[in-house]
Amino acid sequence: MENTNEMTIIFDSRPVNEGLARVAVASFCTQLNPTLEEVADLKTAVSEAVTNCIIHGYEGKIHKIKVMCHLKGQELSVDVIDEGVGIPDVEKAMEPLYTTKPETDRSGMGFTFMEAFMDEVTVESKVGFGTTVHMKKIIRR
Ligand code: ATP
Ligand code: MG
Repeated sequence: MENTNEMTIIFDSRPVNEGLARVAVASFCTQLNPTLEEVADLKTAVSEAVTNCIIHGYEGKIHKIKVMCHLKGQELSVDVIDEGVGIPDVEKAMEPLYTTKPETDRSGMGFTFMEAFMDEVTVESKVGFGTTVHMKKIIRR
């Protein structure tokens, strides 16, 4: 199909790979000629989603995280997927300041940032099976 492109990366849930994921997604989207601001927004959103897989989904254990990117015209979709513990109440988890790890330095703002920096964020999750965060951004330039 015309004007589409795809990339999938799979990596271990090690904190060092958070940087890998955001740079990979950012470089994948350069073919759309994004502004620096659009790239920064995308990197922040990917970072938050991947960090959540590492910390919450897998609770620090090492398993695989999958990031799938799809381009169609000027629309970029990014799916961040783990097969971790899952989220019992997605609606609640997405509320600003809601965190299940208040004792650490978590502020409960990850989903709020993803929603602020992307055009669309939806979450599918099943307890015991894992979580998929779907995000979309229209690159306007
Ligand atoms: P912050 O992102 O500000 O450091 P946080 O990660 O707790 O804090 P959010 O990213 O908004 O805040 O996530 C809210 C809550 O949703 C988390 O505390 C966690 O309970 C749950 N959650 C998010 N992502 C996942 C995931 N991939 N697997 C399981 N639970 C998750
Ligand atoms: Mg978070």
